[in-house]
Amino acid sequence: MSVETIMQDCRDLLELLPAQALSKAQQRYPHVGGLAVFPVYAPLEIIHAAGLMPVGLFGAGDKVELSHADARFQSFICSIAKSTLELFLRGEMKAFAGVVFSSICDVARNLASLVRRNAPELYVEYLHLPQNMYSAASQDYTRAEFERFRTNLARHLGRSIPDAAVARSLELYNQVRARTRELYELRRARPGVISAADTYAVVQAGTRMMPEEFAELLEDLLFNLRQRTGRARDGVQVVLEGAFCEQPPLALVETIEAAGCIIQDDDLVVGWRLFSDDVPVHDDPLGALAQAYLRDSVYTSVRHDRDRPRTEGLTRRVERAGAGAVLFTPAKFCEPALLDYVLFRQRLDETGCPHLKIEFEEKMWTFEATRTEVETFAESMLFD
Ligand code: SF4
Repeated sequence: MSVETIMQDCRDLLELLPAQALSKAQQRYPHVGGLAVFPVYAPLEIIHAAGLMPVGLFGAGDKVELSHADARFQSFICSIAKSTLELFLRGEMKAFAGVVFSSICDVARNLASLVRRNAPELYVEYLHLPQNMYSAASQDYTRAEFERFRTNLARHLGRSIPDAAVARSLELYNQVRARTRELYELRRARPGVISAADTYAVVQAGTRMMPEEFAELLEDLLFNLRQRTGRARDGVQVVLEGAFCEQPPLALVETIEAAGCIIQDDDLVVGWRLFSDDVPVHDDPLGALAQAYLRDSVYTSVRHDRDRPRTEGLTRRVERAGAGAVLFTPAKFCEPALLDYVLFRQRLDETGCPHLKIEFEEKMWTFEATRTEVETFAESMLFD
C-alpha cells in the first residue's frame, strides 16, 4: 500500500465511533470481541490474550452531541469524560465486553463509577496503578493488580487467559511498540518524510486495529517512508507536552505545523507506547509487564515517579529531540496536565527554553486564533 493510501485509511478509521471501529475490525477478525481502554495505560496484552481487541476510548470527539452526560457532571471538566459517558448513556458501547479505566485522576475514577452504574451489563474494571514506584512492595503490588484484572476478565468471559497466551500477545505488542518507536525516530531524523499530524493519525488509528494488523501496517509504512526523500522545512523545532489522555483534534496538530513548527516529539497516545524498550518475554509475562511499568515507562503527568522527576523527563525529551521550544497542549480542565504545567514552566524558564500553552477541547472547530498565536511564537524565535 502506498503511504497516501495508508494515511487515508487511518484518517477514515478515526472518523468512526469506537463501536464502528470494532465492527470494521470484525470484518477481518470475525471471532474477536472488544474491550474499550480509557487512557492512559492498561495492559493490552491481557486483553488481547483473552481473544478481545483492545480499543482506545478517547471520547467521541466532535461526532456526538452531548444530550445526557452534561447533567451528570459539573461544567468545569475535560471533554473526554463527558463524551465518553455520553457514548455509554446512548448505548453506543453495547458491542463491547466492557471497559477498563485506571487511577489517573479523580475525573477518571468518577467516570468509571458512573459507567458502572449506567451500563450494568458491561464488565467495568478500574486498575489501581502504583503511586510509589520504588517501595519494596511495588513489583508484587503491580503484578497482583494485573493478575486481579486477568482473573476478573477471565471470570467475566468464562474462559482462562493462560500465561502462554499473554506471552504471545506481549511479543506482538513488542513488535508494534518497536515499530512505533522507529516511526518516531524516522520522523525526528528526517522530518520531511512524514508530518507529525500523519504520525499522530497512524498511532491513534492503531488503537482501533488488531495489533496483528497494525504491526503489518507499520512495517509497510516504514518500508515506504524509507524510500522517500522528504524535504525538510524551515521552522522551529518543538516538543508537544500535555496531551497524554484526552487527544487533541488532528486539525490542531496540523495547525501547529502549518504555523511554522516542526514537531520533533510529543506525548500523544502515550499510554499505548509507554515502554522505552521491548518487554522481556518469559514464563511470567505479568511480572515482566509490572517491571516494565515500574522501571521502563516514559514519564507522564499521571505516572508518579519520585526518583525521576517529570521536569527532568521533559528536559531530557527536549534535548533528545534537539528541540528549541515546548508547546504545552493540555486538554481544557485537565488537572494533572495543568498542575504539571506550573512545574514544567518553572523548569523551562530556568533553562531558558521558550514555551507556549495552547489548551484544546474536543469540539474545538476554529483554529485561526491558535494559528496566529503559534506563528507569532515561531517568528519571535526565528527572527530573534
Ligand atoms: S483529560 Fe485529564 S482530567 Fe480528564 S480524565 Fe484525562 S487525565 Fe483526567
